[in-house]
Amino acid sequence: MQLAALIETIFRITESQRKALHKFRIKTIEDLLYHFPSRYGDVAEVRNIENLQKGETAVVFGRISNLKATKAFRKKIPMGTGELHDDTGKIQIVWFNQPYLAKMIPEDALVRVEGKVSERRKSGTLYFSNPKIEKVETIPHEVGNSLFRKSQTLSAESLTLTPENHALHSVYSESRGITSNWFYHAVQKILKTGVLETLTDPLPQEILKKYHLPSFKTALIWIHAPQKESDAVAARKRFSFEEVFLIQLEKQKERRLWQKEKSFTIEKGEEHIARFTKRFPFSFTNAQNKAVSGILEDFRKGVPMARILEGDVGSGKTAVAATTSYAVVTSRPQGQSYGTLQVAYMCPTEILAKQQFENFISFFSHLPINIGLITSSGCRKFPSKVNPHGATDISKSQLLKWVQNGEIPILVGTHALIQKVVKFKHLAYAIIDEQHRFGVAQRKALVHKEKIVPHLLSMTATPIPRTLALTMYGDLDLTILDELPPGRKPIITELIAPKDRDTTYEKIRKELQTGRQCYIITPRIDEPDPDKEFAVQARSAKAEAKRLKERVFPEFEIGVMHGKLKDAEKESVMEDFKDGKISILVSTSVVEVGVNIENATVIVIEGAERFGLAQLHQLRGRVLRSTHQAYCYVFTESGGKKVLERLRALQEAKNGFELAEYDLKFRGAGKLSGREQWGVSDVAMEALQNLKMVEAARFEAKRLLEEDATLSQYPFLIEHLASRKKEEIHFE
Ligand code: ADP
Ligand code: MG
Repeated sequence: MQLAALIETIFRITESQRKALHKFRIKTIEDLLYHFPSRYGDVAEVRNIENLQKGETAVVFGRISNLKATKAFRKKIPMGTGELHDDTGKIQIVWFNQPYLAKMIPEDALVRVEGKVSERRKSGTLYFSNPKIEKVETIPHEVGNSLFRKSQTLSAESLTLTPENHALHSVYSESRGITSNWFYHAVQKILKTGVLETLTDPLPQEILKKYHLPSFKTALIWIHAPQKESDAVAARKRFSFEEVFLIQLEKQKERRLWQKEKSFTIEKGEEHIARFTKRFPFSFTNAQNKAVSGILEDFRKGVPMARILEGDVGSGKTAVAATTSYAVVTSRPQGQSYGTLQVAYMCPTEILAKQQFENFISFFSHLPINIGLITSSGCRKFPSKVNPHGATDISKSQLLKWVQNGEIPILVGTHALIQKVVKFKHLAYAIIDEQHRFGVAQRKALVHKEKIVPHLLSMTATPIPRTLALTMYGDLDLTILDELPPGRKPIITELIAPKDRDTTYEKIRKELQTGRQCYIITPRIDEPDPDKEFAVQARSAKAEAKRLKERVFPEFEIGVMHGKLKDAEKESVMEDFKDGKISILVSTSVVEVGVNIENATVIVIEGAERFGLAQLHQLRGRVLRSTHQAYCYVFTESGGKKVLERLRALQEAKNGFELAEYDLKFRGAGKLSGREQWGVSDVAMEALQNLKMVEAARFEAKRLLEEDATLSQYPFLIEHLASRKKEEIHFE
């Protein structure tokens, strides 16, 4: 048997199993071996209510209320009912024919409930049917996170449940059509074929020795069927190191390739730049100055820059981008006494592209520099022929012509920029704003437009933990803007309990009466389905706007903004808000990125428990735009201790990076959905809690490539990298 063999060739697979395997991205025997148990211990998984799925058997810790002994409506079956709450939601419990169960537990007790999650046919609502219930003293910390459940791990029951009498029962995440048990037996069957004897460890021996990691073979056995906890831990450590190491190898390889490319040498120094920056109505922060100098230095090297500029919201990244762009557009192409080098500036949304286009006009209007804008809804150019102080709409073909012949040195746009038809004459500098909103493919498309590779500046306000930055941005140099412009008053952030809603609205009214504006962020666009009685009653933008107008702020203009609006509609709402025609903008989190309206000094976040901390921080950043005192009111209907503790971090943290670290720790591995967000597995997310391990993996990857750039001594590594790549492509 070969690792690359398809599962179907070894196992008989039903259609529903095939679908489930696809969902888990499992195609080959190798994929199966890399599908690790999600935990070891209890048979049923401890879950948060919001993560429950129909049909599964789960354990939930929470508070029980509304206990009643009743009769089922039609059939007159005696039954007991109750409602279970945790930080994430609530779920009904029904005990058919056992009404007395509802009487055995005191109202509002903390309980552990274990049973089958069922679904009401009509409404789709989930409920526990006939679960076991017991009173508990405390709710275990880290419910839904921790790898090992202490409770019943070593009970006689779990021992008999494991076919091979392994001391720990391995539990794999399941999906409709495929059970944990199936995975267990399938993996054991493969391990018994002796295939392990034929495998070569992808990790070099010396690395295993140096970091005391178990070999590939041992680790596979330990991770799938550990005899003791420490074996499982060691095995997981090995695999998380392995994954981070492989990512690092890829990133470092890319970096080395990138550095072989030719680029434009731009020799502008600080004095030259000063001519530009002295016109700014403010002076640069030290962090901005350092960032600009770093970039100018890169420009001189002749190899393409690949840099990421990470700075909290409001730290002034645009000014850094504009200033360095000035150096580019005031430089001539090599050996030419006319024309200029060009800049492409890509934004994730049309609103932002327009905003940055306007910004660039204000920065460059005193210079003989044409600026273009390209989005899917049209093109503009500054200056207009008739009005030297304004921009004008032009046809796409006209714009493309001027970009191609170099007459437009600065082109701002959305991803419309990366279309093949957009050709530059001398593209020397590519800037990506809010880069986390773009994929790697889009980034590559932008920088590989022409033969000579432009310098790349990626900008992001998403504070991510250092471990993640080292891993995911391993191919980029990192500049951090860790300083806000002076005079910014910290945003006053308050957690608002439901009972204080009205007094908070009064405070907001006072602020609005002085002419300021306000954002109200809601987690949803539409009203939730009223049939879904237990659906989370998240506030929706549309309904909330209506409610506020009717009941709370009848005297103010209220606008609505969400992702489903057409671009033109979004734009006109934003215009109205910008012009002050709207005082209150009720919006989903689409305003999250980059929007800049200085007069908006209040932001209300509804259903805050539904957002991540880093995202909340970014939302809050919408009002960190000027020297006015700004306020952020965080509304939450959930009184859960964990929720409040997490939100309190928002009040206390000094910056986004602190919050990101907190999110990583607090939500725990896996919960950050590493796969969706960063393309790494749950096991690698475990490594990201461990800075030392990430640094070691990075160090070793660099060292290996320095010694052996083609990895010719490590054929297994090459194989492994290739199969990772294949997988990525296959599932895209
Ligand atoms: P971000 O880093 O979030 O993209 P922006 O570039 O949009 O931030 O800048 C936010 C605001 O701060 C803008 O209005 C900008 O003019 C202003 N600003 C930038 N740098 C400074 C500075 N050094 N001093 C004062 N204000 C500044
Ligand atoms: Mg910005």
